[in-house]
Amino acid sequence: MQATLRNLQTAYSSFWGKRAKYPTFKRKGRTTDAATYLRNCFTFRDGQLTLAKQDAPLRVIWSRPLPEGAVPSQVTVSRISRGQYHVSILVVTAVHDLAETGTSVGVDAGITSLLTLSTGEKVTNPRHEKRDRTRLRRAQQTVNRKQKGSANRAKAKLRVARIHGKIADRRRDVLYKLTTRLVLEHDTVVIEDLTVRNMVRNHGLARAIHDASWSELRRQLEYKADWYGRQVIAIDRWYLSSKTCSVCGAIVEKLPLNVWEWTCPCGARHDRDVNAARNIHAAGLAVSASGG
Ligand SMILES: [Zn+2]
Repeated sequence: MQATLRNLQTAYSSFWGKRAKYPTFKRKGRTTDAATYLRNCFTFRDGQLTLAKQDAPLRVIWSRPLPEGAVPSQVTVSRISRGQYHVSILVVTAVHDLAETGTSVGVDAGITSLLTLSTGEKVTNPRHEKRDRTRLRRAQQTVNRKQKGSANRAKAKLRVARIHGKIADRRRDVLYKLTTRLVLEHDTVVIEDLTVRNMVRNHGLARAIHDASWSELRRQLEYKADWYGRQVIAIDRWYLSSKTCSVCGAIVEKLPLNVWEWTCPCGARHDRDVNAARNIHAAGLAVSASGG
């Protein structure tokens, strides 16, 4: 109740402050059902979490231990569409800047792979993604064959939600590990300021960008960089990153989306995505050197 009133307060002040639309009702089952417990509504003792009005601690499968000595200040329990319950625990903890590594990297949302680094490394889609997609399509077809409102349709829908969830879990896993690695290994990470809206026109690309979860990547990079004293630079999206030769700087006139490798008149052979990542890297360093 307390947490809900707080949320309502935030929603109204955002509305009056013209930062958001008028609050709307949430319906059970339509969105992710969640309840937040403030400090006085749960106990956390010896690694055991007990919520208000429950006599036994929750049986939690921990994704990782809480930071040493951290005291939870808020607990949110949510139920996702697959019927799984998740608990997230808010703690206040200190983070420290990491030692400088003296390196930087450019990241390109590639076409042939999920992401390409200026080091030449390609990050591929999560394993089994293709197989999961096939399963998803079949499960979706099954739903369509069931009678509307029937119990069998509900069951088939749950199956679809489970497969969706699995795909999302795998992708999230890849993304979290990747962003952590990038931030740990490099002082500066340069990304392209891509806005999805501009690229959605092309259908095949739209899928690729959606899959790459580009904005999520950026969000994670930025908050992790903030934690560890690193720098994330987003460069102008109008920059011709694919068509510029990263060796001599010449700009080719045409580079169709199906061309994966090309040779510049200067003789440099380029992998399309690696070349783009190198250009992004160089542009980011130029921005960084000029102080903005
Ligand atoms: Zn060239």
